[in-house]
Amino acid sequence: MPSFIKPLREEKVFKDPVHNYVHVQDRTIWSLINTSEFQRLRRIRQLGTTYLTFHGAEHSRFSHSLGVYEITRRIISQFERGGYPDWPVEENMVAMCAALLHDLGHGPFSHSIEEAFQMDHEDWTCKIILGDTDVNRVLKEVSADLPERVASVIRKDYEQEIVVNLITSPLDADRMDYLLRDAYFTGVNYGTIDIDRILRMLRPHNGRIVVKESGMHAVEDYLMSRYQMYWQVYFHPVTRSSEIILRQIFRRAAELHKEGYAFEFLPQPLPGLFVNELSVKEYLKLDESLIQTTFMQWSDEKDPILRELCCRFLHRRLYKYVEVDSIDMETIDEIRASFEQVGLHPEYDFEIDFPTDLPYDVFRPDDSGMGNGIILIDKQGKLREISEVSDIIRSISGLHRGKYHLYYPHHKLSSVISRLPAHIASIFPISAD
Ligand code: ZN
Repeated sequence: MPSFIKPLREEKVFKDPVHNYVHVQDRTIWSLINTSEFQRLRRIRQLGTTYLTFHGAEHSRFSHSLGVYEITRRIISQFERGGYPDWPVEENMVAMCAALLHDLGHGPFSHSIEEAFQMDHEDWTCKIILGDTDVNRVLKEVSADLPERVASVIRKDYEQEIVVNLITSPLDADRMDYLLRDAYFTGVNYGTIDIDRILRMLRPHNGRIVVKESGMHAVEDYLMSRYQMYWQVYFHPVTRSSEIILRQIFRRAAELHKEGYAFEFLPQPLPGLFVNELSVKEYLKLDESLIQTTFMQWSDEKDPILRELCCRFLHRRLYKYVEVDSIDMETIDEIRASFEQVGLHPEYDFEIDFPTDLPYDVFRPDDSGMGNGIILIDKQGKLREISEVSDIIRSISGLHRGKYHLYYPHHKLSSVISRLPAHIASIFPISAD
């Protein structure tokens, strides 16, 4: 059992569909879970708009964060039991707090909102940990420098690199949890990895986490599942369509706000969000309930663009898409110009998307082969990057299998398709009638 600073008199457990149980044995972890900032994560979905594609994907950042904590706790316990000198036991508390709090700064529909307002959830996580918050007070009770140490792990500049490695690396507690959890809640058959075996094979070694060579096949399985999840779930073009609409709503609302438009409904802290001036206290008021309520109200706004976008999002009238191998800037400009000529909006009725622009990474070891890779260690202590050893991993590493997707409102485009130049109309799979 890891050495805790303040053990609870009685262990607390959460029933969890992925790990069966999440065990809390330390008073500080228990107090952190009960802060208002951590409880807010119940109101933020882990996969944003993915529930519009896979209806089961309603799980929250709260359950994922508990899962990352649980995996980290298990790894640490095992390192302690093994008595490995390369694991710094005095870092147990920092590692578990960082695991639990690593997603604390996620906003509602985080990827779309971050794209629309150039925000960064990691920055917000650190601001919440270091600011005037309950999380900060709980951490400070342990030691005055704990908030800064936890924030430093999140920023990936913590002096003990092995702690950062545990939370952020190609085989880290974060990825292992979201892969299993997202597979479970979307209902896809990929992503069911043998996590017990992987965890048993991890070893602390010289400032980083490595994998015993005999665990290679379990890691292969993990990377294959991850590869399948990216294409099956994370890059799903229908999910991307809903994200585009969401981003357009934020963009339109910010435009209107800038023009001085009088909204019939504009709750706090949205005005601050539009101009990128939010205090920590205001930021913490943002959750998906507030955003959904706002969209419901905006579906009656005077502005026709905002009204239409909100109806589309709420009632799942998503944009259709067509896949193309390549497209040049000239054609894009021509599409926008001819859309405008027939009364469509060049910015809102056409969007172009390339799946690998998404903030997820497919496994890609860097050139040196060691830096960001997954390192295997053999009986003699020799280190090798997994793609050097595994044919399967080599074949999927760094693969760039993306196509452009052009998004458009099907009904609107159908009604004007006959008036578009033939070579533009032929790009879209709509027949003129
Ligand atoms: Zn996470």
